[in-house]
Amino acid sequence: MPIRLLPAQLANQIAAGEVVERPASVVKELVENSLDAGATQIWIDIEKGGARRIRIRDNGNGIAKDELTLALSRHATSKIATLDDLEAIISLGFRGEALASISSVSRLRLASKPAEQAEGWQAWCEGRDMAVQIEPTAHPQGTTVDVQDLFFNTPARRKFLRTEKTEFGHIDEVVRRIALARPAVEIQLTHNNQALRHYRPVAVHDLAEEPTTEQQAAWARRLEQIVGKRFGQEAGFVFNQQAADDLMVFGWLAPPQACRHQGDIQYMYVNGRMMKDKLLSHAIRQAYEGSLADDRQPTYVLYLQLPAQQVDVNVHPAKHEVRFHQARQVHDFVLSTLRDALGQLQGTPVVTDPV
Ligand code: ADP
Ligand code: MG
Repeated sequence: MPIRLLPAQLANQIAAGEVVERPASVVKELVENSLDAGATQIWIDIEKGGARRIRIRDNGNGIAKDELTLALSRHATSKIATLDDLEAIISLGFRGEALASISSVSRLRLASKPAEQAEGWQAWCEGRDMAVQIEPTAHPQGTTVDVQDLFFNTPARRKFLRTEKTEFGHIDEVVRRIALARPAVEIQLTHNNQALRHYRPVAVHDLAEEPTTEQQAAWARRLEQIVGKRFGQEAGFVFNQQAADDLMVFGWLAPPQACRHQGDIQYMYVNGRMMKDKLLSHAIRQAYEGSLADDRQPTYVLYLQLPAQQVDVNVHPAKHEVRFHQARQVHDFVLSTLRDALGQLQGTPVVTDPV
């Protein structure tokens, strides 16, 4: 075959292979866009485990009429302009691929209205060249992305979809992770028109200093809404700062005897981004070493904050991994903080035995 340029749709479908694994990945990308747009309310409506429909509406900044076409194009982003921006990234997105990718493997409509624009507009892509069409539509300030019939044109992907219940379970988990990351954002989730989750916003500290008792209690309320009352009651609050490297860790840690048998409450955030990081998992595991029974798992919701230039998030397209520039310092800071916290927690009696 001669060398040729791939049609836009096919190129986007190939890119979609990396980030759009299942309906839950669509939810993750879209909700992250809402957060990057400064939304304080996000409504998520799912039909048939997301295979039929995923609709996300937010009250964020919105997208101007003139930029709707770009928003749907690959490699188009408002979040970075230079390599320097990438090296100190604070937004969740930056690749400019999600909307184009999702749009190439579904029927996607993007509707939006920024505050300063009189009416709303909606846009969608058509055909192999992904030509963008636009028309006016009624919309309050903010953005709605309506994704229908995911993978209808990529049968190989469609085949890998599990049952409605399983796919919705993954979505529920993604929403839980995001809700834990952003306590000040109100999030509502429906499935097949049934309201299932409503995470109410709480006022939290600005992350620059130690939270007051009141702020701690607010976080704890949100925590209980999301991961359950029991963890909220049994876990101890942790906070530590290291001025020299501008490191801060805080969150909740279950004492060893209250740790769960399943590893289902293990949430680690780095600068507001949920991570499955080997280095941090190792530090956490090591902190519990010697005090945790073999059949129990470290149980925690922890937040690590450090200067954006100290982490590289551009390691994996789905951004599940990071690289720390000062890996040793970060590891040891987390380890010593948690070790001290566990030492203090050991003294506190546990009310009941967890399931
Ligand atoms: P990225 O998030 O990496 O920039 P996306 O494809 O996810 O790429 O989005 C492309 C652009 O569309 C974003 O940079 C942003 O400007 C705009 N956008 C997407 N979703 C929203 C939203 N919910 N509210 C406001 N702007 C949005
Ligand atoms: Mg994005």
